[in-house]
Amino acid sequence: MKIGRLPLDDKTNGWSAILPTRMPKPVLVGDVTVDWVVLGAGYAGLAAARQLSENCPDQQIAVIEAGTVGENASGRNSGFAVDLPHNVGSSLDELDGSQRFLRLGKMAVASLDNTIKTHDIDCQWSLDGKYHAAVSTRGVKEILEPFAKELETLGEPYRWVEKSDLARNIGSNHFTAAIYTPGGALLNPAALTQGLADSLPDNVTLYENSPVQEATFKNGVHFITANGSLHGSKLIMAANGFSEQFGYYRNRFLHLVAHCSLTRQLTEDERNTYGVEKPWGLTPANAFVGITMRYTNDHRIIIRHGLNYCPNQRVLASEQAAVKHRHKELFDKRFPMLPAVDMEHTWSGFVCLSQNSAPGFGQLAPNVWSAVCQNAMGVTKGTFSGVLAADMACGVENPLIRDMQSLGEPSILPRRPLLDIGVRARFMWEHWRNRHEA
Ligand SMILES: Cc1cc2nc3c(=O)[nH]c(=O)nc-3n(C[C@H](O)[C@H](O)[C@H](O)COP(=O)(O)OP(=O)(O)OC[C@H]3O[C@@H](n4cnc5c(N)ncnc54)[C@H](O)[C@@H]3O)c2cc1C
Repeated sequence: MKIGRLPLDDKTNGWSAILPTRMPKPVLVGDVTVDWVVLGAGYAGLAAARQLSENCPDQQIAVIEAGTVGENASGRNSGFAVDLPHNVGSSLDELDGSQRFLRLGKMAVASLDNTIKTHDIDCQWSLDGKYHAAVSTRGVKEILEPFAKELETLGEPYRWVEKSDLARNIGSNHFTAAIYTPGGALLNPAALTQGLADSLPDNVTLYENSPVQEATFKNGVHFITANGSLHGSKLIMAANGFSEQFGYYRNRFLHLVAHCSLTRQLTEDERNTYGVEKPWGLTPANAFVGITMRYTNDHRIIIRHGLNYCPNQRVLASEQAAVKHRHKELFDKRFPMLPAVDMEHTWSGFVCLSQNSAPGFGQLAPNVWSAVCQNAMGVTKGTFSGVLAADMACGVENPLIRDMQSLGEPSILPRRPLLDIGVRARFMWEHWRNRHEA
């Protein structure tokens, strides 16, 4: 099978641009045969490879990656490792589901924390928690108050933060209130992904800049690249939305594009004017219209705003120029005391969703397992699905596999162009209905 669409790196990612230059691992050259192939070096693929190595220390594992580590969605996100489900729900079923998700989320944060400490990965990892903030009193009533009740039912710690306290902590009085949850971490995602890749165990070989152009699934897996071929007895599919190109999950994924900007570092004078020292992270009560923001350890502010339907997984440069301008306007509204601070980097990345928010996890064929479709929370979801796909493939008894399976599987979508019309209409409706949260 020829692979129709390959990932493209437009070299705009701000998180990697601010890091020291890293030497990518070699391209795949010649014919290589291994026990295990992992396709994709994001959180899911890297977690799967590490876990396979632990489960099968005497076997050879190859991770094959189209681009450079840290330039994919895993390196381009807003850098929140979240352990709480987005929507807790109030029925017993929903509560049970939330508890299962919590167990998985906490496992992923602990696993990342452990790997980062063991290998001394310098990625600004800080267990600082986050604010979930509403702009309007309607947002407080409709989203924050039910969220607080659900956290109480779950027994999860949180703090209600009123406008003035929030303004003092984040340096912006744009929001009416927030819920602060102490779990989860903030990080530089490109540095974390690179660190995870560069600390893989000895029996794992990573090939970068080696897009798989052709695939055959007969007596194992056979991948052809421009300069070589890779053969393995078993495969963990961790190519996220691109797994469709390999014949899996067709008609089950929604591809969205999300946009981020990172300011330059604030000067000493600007930091004094701004008046906030401690890093913080904030997610919006409504992800369609609201802004995700962070103040980083190295004194930059990141803005994530704009979420669009993007079925062809491509972004135009003209679209990015408009996004940069918009992000600066949004920044100025929230931080009027920093008028001279520009967006130093603006970039976009792709998010793979399913209509029912279920992950693409489990066994797909006799020698193929998958850990894809992280529904916009891939730092933790990618990590736990990679670990558990590796355990499942190796026959390791892990009770969390049942928690994972209980999250269901991606539902079938209507065919295009009906799908396109439906998704675009839903986006317009969400923007209109939640305009008070902009
Ligand atoms: C702007 C933005 C902000 C976000 N913010 C957050 C956040 O704060 N917290 C959070 O948890 N999540 C966030 N997300 C979502 C998160 O980044 C993703 O869910 C996560 O990175 C997915 O990880 P993954 O390993 O499944 O996939 P990916 O990181 O997409 O990795 C899949 C890999 O497969 C490779 N691949 C595909 N096709 C081929 C091929 N033919 N040959 C070889 N390799 C191939 C790709 O190159 C890619 O590297 C955000 C996403 C975006 C875009």
